[in-house]
Amino acid sequence: MKHALLAAATIALLSTASAHAETVALVGGNIVDLAGKAPLHDAVVLIDGERITAIGPAASTPVPAGATVVPMHGKWLIPGLMNMHVHLALNLPGAARIHNETPDSMALRTLDNARKSLWSGVTTIRLTGSDAGVDFTVKKAIDAGMFDGPRIHTAGSSIVATGGHGKTEVDGPAAFAKAVREQVKRGATWIKIGISGGISDTHGDIGASPFTDDELKTAIEVAHRNGVKVTGHTGSPIASDAAIDAGIDCFEHGYFLTPTVLGKMKARGVWYVPTIVVSQSGARAFYAKIGSPDWYLARVDSVGKAHFRSLRDAISAGVSIALGTDQYPWEPNEGTTATIREAELYVDAGMTAAQALRAATIEPARMLGVDKEVGQLKPGYYADIVAVDADPARDIRALRTIGFVMKGGKTIRNDASVPSGAKIDR
Ligand SMILES: [Zn+2]
Repeated sequence: MKHALLAAATIALLSTASAHAETVALVGGNIVDLAGKAPLHDAVVLIDGERITAIGPAASTPVPAGATVVPMHGKWLIPGLMNMHVHLALNLPGAARIHNETPDSMALRTLDNARKSLWSGVTTIRLTGSDAGVDFTVKKAIDAGMFDGPRIHTAGSSIVATGGHGKTEVDGPAAFAKAVREQVKRGATWIKIGISGGISDTHGDIGASPFTDDELKTAIEVAHRNGVKVTGHTGSPIASDAAIDAGIDCFEHGYFLTPTVLGKMKARGVWYVPTIVVSQSGARAFYAKIGSPDWYLARVDSVGKAHFRSLRDAISAGVSIALGTDQYPWEPNEGTTATIREAELYVDAGMTAAQALRAATIEPARMLGVDKEVGQLKPGYYADIVAVDADPARDIRALRTIGFVMKGGKTIRNDASVPSGAKIDR
């Protein structure tokens, strides 16, 4: 017993000592105010292990002896970006190179895209439809520290009525209940249902509402009874209206959101994840790269204008918006990444820069229910931190200058420490 106590005391001493050795201090940067107010200049951010322990002016925030100091002079610090609509093993019409992909190769592609996403500044993602359970496998590997990647919230496989826009096809309330329970059992913390057709479907009408009311209500009730929220892929005002009545929590894309639907979303607190990049001109290069067929490109064009109008109307209606892209978070788009281009398009559609920055940080954290852990730079929060060259709460294009990424206290990327001439190609 005495020995055990002594051992415990020794371990306590050792862990105190190592905790000091692990302190990281980001020194001299500006902390961006997410509400667009005055930033905190010449700041010190102290990080112990995975979390922020202190943030304050350099004058009154001493850096502990032995801390690893990372100079941040001239940089602007924001929370890690969050992308709420991601498929890390995206497979669209034309993507010939990944035909007949096995779950093994899909898992590797998922992991590769997870690492690239984190490197691009995205520290939390929500997966809105993955296949063969690779999302759960990769999430576990990242959470265990085997690989670097964003924090993952996943909906598992997307559930639809037979012929719908999604992977797991079921029919009737009982089958929907079972499908939801199966995803939750595997580790899903969201449920994704495809309540209407999609741009890439080759059958049916995107404006139709194929679920019965019983199917919608049962899927949502069972998810809620498991403490899991439900999001719906929608391109149909009729399906959206029915899903709001059934208690849905969130909509993806909303290619055609009507004033009636937007009014109900606002009144019931239904979230909107626009994925506006998929239907705008910046996605052209991506579609060309994967060899999208002409019919697909024509549909994207025809939907693009209505989609942008939906976004603009949702912003002016005051609907809660969380950023999501439906492209890889790091995918090149108009000279930046899909995630950053998405935020820029929110400003084009009527948000202030600070609002767009919140849609990429604090708002997704609220939507996921993790707003006491991530989405802000505050003591006690995970040290998920990105640095840029100017204040993105004043000009959202400052996000194009990301040069530093930290997740949970671990520096993933620091361009300032890369020897001149060295090239990082991710
Ligand atoms: Zn999607």
